[in-house]
Amino acid sequence: MLILLTNDDGIQSPGLQVLAEQISRLGRVVVVAPDRERSAVGHALTLHAPLRAQVYADDWWAVDGTPTDCVSLGIHGLLKTVPDLVISGINKGANMGDDLTYSGTVAAAMEATLMGVPAFAVSLASTDFDRQAFVWSARVAMRVAETICEHSLPADTFLNVNVPVGEPSGIQLTRQGKRIYEGAVIQKRDPRGNDYYWIGAGELGFHDLDGTDFNAVQSGHVSVTPLHLDLTNYAALDRLRQWDMDLGPFGPTESDG
Ligand code: MN
Repeated sequence: MLILLTNDDGIQSPGLQVLAEQISRLGRVVVVAPDRERSAVGHALTLHAPLRAQVYADDWWAVDGTPTDCVSLGIHGLLKTVPDLVISGINKGANMGDDLTYSGTVAAAMEATLMGVPAFAVSLASTDFDRQAFVWSARVAMRVAETICEHSLPADTFLNVNVPVGEPSGIQLTRQGKRIYEGAVIQKRDPRGNDYYWIGAGELGFHDLDGTDFNAVQSGHVSVTPLHLDLTNYAALDRLRQWDMDLGPFGPTESDG
């Protein structure tokens, strides 16, 4: 087994270190991770600047790019063979509900899925990051990795795993929940009397919906959500067909003279 690990908290993050220790029981672990914190960069890919990969330790590479860059570089450049599994995490903080679209952690698993490599993201849904919490999360990741190896993932599917605070009481299969973004932007005044704004500094709520990632984690369970990359809303497609949307006759344009 060849397992590629990455994250968005940077190569020095304890979550990545603990994950690597635990997962190395499954096979050879190669880490390709951002050289600094890159949280909330989403699925950003570096197209207009060179990327450098520095040897950080044996089988550990630090890249001056995004989590997506790391997976791409790992699969296509640094590893000599395609890995059997990509794991992104353990993220410092939850990645649930609408937040997934911002997450660099989740995007790294997305990138692996695009490359046809089985993947999952794992996040510690806490604000307190002691070693024990990461150890529990790493054990969860180990179980998930073993299960993926046993059953193999459905096509174009990856898993988003969130681990609750404390020892988890079980695993729940969930759907993506819904955030309440009220209070997402905090306005303050700087020492010179000018206003400034801070995004994501407040504690945000979520809708209490059955079967969601938020509810599973709140009840002390590990949340496992299967995700896919096809963003098409198929139910809406049927409704839109009834709109009879077409271009109609175009009027004369400037170039027509
Ligand atoms: Mn992060």
